[in-house]
Amino acid sequence: MRTANWILTLGWLLPLLLMQDYTKLRNEMVKDQIEARGVKDSATLAALRKVPRHSFVPADQMSSAYEDRPLSIGYGQTISQPYIVGYMTEIIKPKAGQKVLEIGTGSGYQAAVLAEIVGKVYTIEIVNELGKQATTRLKNLGYKNIEVKTADGYHGWKEHSPFDAIVVTAAAEFIPAPLKEQLKDGGRMIIPVGSPYMTQQLMLIEKTGNTYRTSSKMPVRFVPFKRSQ
Ligand code: SAH
Repeated sequence: MRTANWILTLGWLLPLLLMQDYTKLRNEMVKDQIEARGVKDSATLAALRKVPRHSFVPADQMSSAYEDRPLSIGYGQTISQPYIVGYMTEIIKPKAGQKVLEIGTGSGYQAAVLAEIVGKVYTIEIVNELGKQATTRLKNLGYKNIEVKTADGYHGWKEHSPFDAIVVTAAAEFIPAPLKEQLKDGGRMIIPVGSPYMTQQLMLIEKTGNTYRTSSKMPVRFVPFKRSQ
């Protein structure tokens, strides 16, 4: 009887202790990896402190979830390094009430970070199984303002356009024209551009009327932007 009680106590105490551990690791991740490298936007930092990154990686990677690197999420895909997620979030200048499109749902982590700040996130994933897993994960975590679709994100999501911002998390050889069209006047897009399996440039596109101002921000390495057959 005593042992049973003890096991019961441990049963609720252990997850609680682990959770506190993850909160501590997450706060350290934001401070040492993201703020230290210059990300300042308070909404972005608050979102990164809140989203449980360990819930977005496979069980065998959980203990590495707050490390300063991308992690494998299966199907040859990765969840981006925390700093890159922070940088890409801050640079689109996310605001409450905005509508954002993400291409490359992957684990759903970047979508969740955005959803903590903006009004609605539409996200497209080309790998069916990843799209399904992310949908279930985001639902279980209580996100009601994220819609996931399985499709080739090249075409964007016309029904819900125009978007205040577009975040592309797979490396394209050029900027897909439909995505440029689906940006609002004054909208911003962040996208890694370059050859697959090489270093690419993270590019910011700012739309004003029908003109697009493009600037290179930093070298990055993303998985390739695939096309459906
Ligand atoms: N944002 C993700 C990480 C993405 S990795 C996260 O936070 O976890 C890049 C993802 O883009 C992969 O899951 C890959 O399958 C997907 N992808 C590649 N090409 C795509 C396309 N054309 N349309 C939609 N998703 C694509």
